[in-house]
Amino acid sequence: EQPRVGLIGLGTMGAALSLNIAEKGHALAVYNRTGSVTDAFVKNAGDLAPRLTPTDSLENFVAAIAAPRVIILMVPAGSVVDDHIDALKPLLGADDLIIDAGNANFYDTERRAERARNEKFGFIGIGVSGGESGARHGPSIMVGGTEADWQRVAPMLEAISAKYEGTPCASLMGPGGAGHFVKMVHNGIEYADMQMIAEVYSLMRDGMGYKAPQVADVFEGWNKGRLESYLIEISAKVSRADDPISGNAMLDVILDKAGQKGTGRWTAIEAQQLAVPVPVIEAAVAARNLSARLEMRQRGAEHFGDAQKALEGEGIAATTLENALIAGKILCYAQGFEMLAAAAAHFKWDLPMPAIARVWREGCIIRSDMLNDMATALTNNPGDNLIFAEPFSGLLKECEADLRDTVIAATRAGIAVPALAAGLSWFDTVRTRRTSANMIQAQRDYFGAHGFERVDGKDEPHGPWAGHED
Ligand code: NDP
Repeated sequence: EQPRVGLIGLGTMGAALSLNIAEKGHALAVYNRTGSVTDAFVKNAGDLAPRLTPTDSLENFVAAIAAPRVIILMVPAGSVVDDHIDALKPLLGADDLIIDAGNANFYDTERRAERARNEKFGFIGIGVSGGESGARHGPSIMVGGTEADWQRVAPMLEAISAKYEGTPCASLMGPGGAGHFVKMVHNGIEYADMQMIAEVYSLMRDGMGYKAPQVADVFEGWNKGRLESYLIEISAKVSRADDPISGNAMLDVILDKAGQKGTGRWTAIEAQQLAVPVPVIEAAVAARNLSARLEMRQRGAEHFGDAQKALEGEGIAATTLENALIAGKILCYAQGFEMLAAAAAHFKWDLPMPAIARVWREGCIIRSDMLNDMATALTNNPGDNLIFAEPFSGLLKECEADLRDTVIAATRAGIAVPALAAGLSWFDTVRTRRTSANMIQAQRDYFGAHGFERVDGKDEPHGPWAGHED
């Protein structure tokens, strides 16, 4: 059977995705810049090898696929994708379709889709989440393209995607860069989810003196409750593991310097562009950046004394931390979905909010049970913020005091909880009838004659300081 699909880039993700596609019954042509990688890949593909057609040049790769072709790129984001589009261009026929499945910046995807409109071939960008094992056994897939593109690729993408109680975690998000935009926000939320878990871990380790196995016990317990999620599950697992070299807890020998590939940062930047407050995500990005400043932190501790102390009195109960995390998580998603709504309005995408929650229920890094309730809440309360939708409204009321107690206890003990604190401040602000922004407006009017609106609606848009002299 001649393949109708091909994949370029047999790295970690591309190799796993190819096996997944082949396993679902599709014959597949594969190509990789380094030929030995292609050979080794097919050789190790076992039962799936007969469905794979290895090729040694882009020309042979394209020739091996029956038209109209679907060609998946799984190469590093950026210029490598453009180079591939340029190189494929003269080889492609009418109705061939290139799918960029890497972590592209959505502006690049917009541009590429726009350009492809003048070409005989099509181009779509899809966000794929779930890491290597997701790609192999079922990722969450966020598609950017037209309805016609979606109809064309849906059977294959739904087949290879994760399933939540039988429902495929693959959906059309909107045109152009919409799929990669949703994937970007997914990653921003992922940063925030991870950071908040790290913060409660710090309270247990630094505030309560828990050893790693005790932390593992707590996370395991939480994973049976409302916080059930992949990230809590793996947090338990990494807390449980021992270092084969030193025999100490693995966590204790890992340097506290967080890496990043930048998609969380993109989310924070885009949120700023859209003027949507996502302080939990922004705090998580800042925390990673600050963690990388190892030398400054050592110097700070030396110069000012160590910030962290044990928690006062009895410390804090694990159930309090659990509720704080539940509240923090709801606030983080409330902000993330608000950002998606703002992007939908700004870019004129009709982003399907409930479907976004649904594709995140399985396969991706932020997968969790709570996302199922979010999908229902977003369906029942279209256009409304999640904090006003049940069960989240009730949960927030229930957990708010514990979030506040956690932030207070941490602050007193000098344990930084930037994401939880940012979530709480946002929540406090959205429940404040009169904020302090009148002061900002007065200052702006004083130095820049920017004017203000008055509470009594009267028409006197400047203060008595007009004409002042500095
Ligand atoms: P890898 O580094 O494992 O693989 C990269 C692949 O691209 C290799 O096949 C490599 O070929 C090829 N490649 C690299 N540079 C070039 C080039 N200049 N010209 C031609 N081919 C090139 O990356 P991943 O599989 O991890 O990532 C691929 C994409 O998927 C990225 O956009 C990444 O952000 C995204 N992604 C990754 C996830 C992950 O968990 N790893 C999760 C979700 C998305 P060669 O063998 O010749 O070097």
